Amino acid sequence: MRSQEPRQPLPRVRSENSNRRGVELLCPYRMVRSVTEITPQELVALGIKGVILDLDNTLVLWHQEEIASHTLAWLKSLQEAGLKLCVLSNSVLSKRSERVAMRLGCPNIRQAKKPSKGGFRRALQAMETDPHHTAMVGDQMFTDILGGNRMGLYTFMVEPMHPHEFAYTKYISRPPERLLLRYFRKRGHL
Ligand SMILES: [Mg+2]
Repeated sequence: MRSQEPRQPLPRVRSENSNRRGVELLCPYRMVRSVTEITPQELVALGIKGVILDLDNTLVLWHQEEIASHTLAWLKSLQEAGLKLCVLSNSVLSKRSERVAMRLGCPNIRQAKKPSKGGFRRALQAMETDPHHTAMVGDQMFTDILGGNRMGLYTFMVEPMHPHEFAYTKYISRPPERLLLRYFRKRGHL
């Protein structure tokens, strides 16, 4: 990761040959403080027809299932704009994601094993969309963003709702995430 070499910032809009490679696979197309910063108009303008949603610390607090009213209103606004939704969670035992998806009236894929492609493929199938017309919204670089970019999706990284999270995430994933975000910002990618 040499920061000296001159290089163009990564494109913010996807094209046939702009798929990300190497460390760029960890860079989201856009970083937001909260999901509500992503407007349905923006998604429609990007040609998005389906949105894959991470659950913990993106839509709900870690290990909770209560959706805040402003998040719920945002989700409804996406559906009203004709966008399909799908919840994609790595959780194995919990049925929370199923209950949240049921509440939203959308499909749910759990045991997704993000960043593996399998769960993403199941989500695309469930929404009947293709990668070029699908966005991923999640709070973790090494699962949500890496997986979404590997699939060629438009990726939004959201700041985690709350610092309370799985110890592995907090102590192992977040420190390199912060370094990489700083690196991507420095390169003008974000
Ligand atoms: Mg998450």
